[in-house]
Amino acid sequence: MRVSVPCFNPKCKNNITMTEGQKEALLISFALKYDASVLPTCSKECAEELLQRLSEAFDIITKIRVTSGTPIQRYRSAKRKTYNKKLK
Ligand SMILES: [Zn+2]
Repeated sequence: MRVSVPCFNPKCKNNITMTEGQKEALLISFALKYDASVLPTCSKECAEELLQRLSEAFDIITKIRVTSGTPIQRYRSAKRKTYNKKLK
């Protein structure tokens, strides 16, 4: 079963088609494994635009390519890191 998720570039109206398993991995498994949000985008251009717009608020850790043509950006909040430090 294939599902659609929207491209996370706010200016883009495209959807990304993936399997239910990929969506589960994207939204749940990656978040738990890496303690970071995963934002799917439809293209390299959208990924770069989103990356640019988020770069003030987030430390960019890495890029994960889940399927060909579906670049995945992974972010960790700089503020959240500070917040976590306060808890310890
Ligand atoms: Zn897009």
